[in-house]
Amino acid sequence: MNIILMGPPGAGKGTQAKILSERFHIPQISTGDILRMNVREKTTLGLKAKDYMEKGVLVPDDLVVEMVAERLKSRDCAGGFILDGFPRNVAQAEALERTLEKIGKKIDAVVGIEVEERELVRRLSGRRVCRGCGAVYHVTFNPPVNTDTCDNCGVELYQRDDDKEETIRARLRIYEEETRPVIEYYREKGLYRAVGGIGSMDGITENIVKAIEDRRGYTENPG
Ligand code: ADP
Ligand code: ADP
Ligand code: ZN
Repeated sequence: MNIILMGPPGAGKGTQAKILSERFHIPQISTGDILRMNVREKTTLGLKAKDYMEKGVLVPDDLVVEMVAERLKSRDCAGGFILDGFPRNVAQAEALERTLEKIGKKIDAVVGIEVEERELVRRLSGRRVCRGCGAVYHVTFNPPVNTDTCDNCGVELYQRDDDKEETIRARLRIYEEETRPVIEYYREKGLYRAVGGIGSMDGITENIVKAIEDRRGYTENPG
């Protein structure tokens, strides 16, 4: 099962991708997470990506496309994968299609999580992430048991540099300009399904699963 999770920054892509990854035993491929790891470890890719990420604009396509292509070739993607945060513009979507064709794979479903802007700002400004395991919390909507400490691994939580008000606005703008057209790209291919992103995390997971099944049923019974 090869899935793309879409949605604006703060919609809950990472949260849902982690749940689905455990449920279906397929890896979550988060381009944001992979890029942040490269920045932290000061790799060549990380040094190139850092300034773009701090400004909240997209890292150049060639860097991200190459990174995803490598990742998709790994053996753990054989049984499926969940892309989270990629593709983020139409050029990336086209590059993904070429990459998948070369390795004999295709996307089964694209699910978009819909949340209005005011709620996105609330979610992003209260987001906290574990330095150890990458678990995602929210200071009020999904707080850890002990303030600033991860429930899973006990390591300290931090606020991402780009989760500050000014950068949040820039990221939301980039989403509207560059990423929203990707919805139309997949809608035309009959792959796109939208789900509401407001409500309990479990309820949203169920709706995403239904959207995936709906789309796959459609493939099995065309027309
Ligand atoms: P994205 O990967 O789309 O940027 P995240 O999964 O990191 O989004 O979620 C953004 C923030 O919103 C996090 O702080 C997360 O805990 C919180 N969040 C995720 N899902 C929900 C939800 N259904 N209701 C309230 N807050 C949520
Ligand atoms: P979000 O919470 O907005 O979903 P991500 O963790 O997915 O944030 O992305 C953080 C930053 O990493 C983006 O603002 C961008 O600079 C960079 N990035 C992540 N994915 C991509 C991509 N597919 N193409 C270009 N830049 C990306
Ligand atoms: Zn942790």
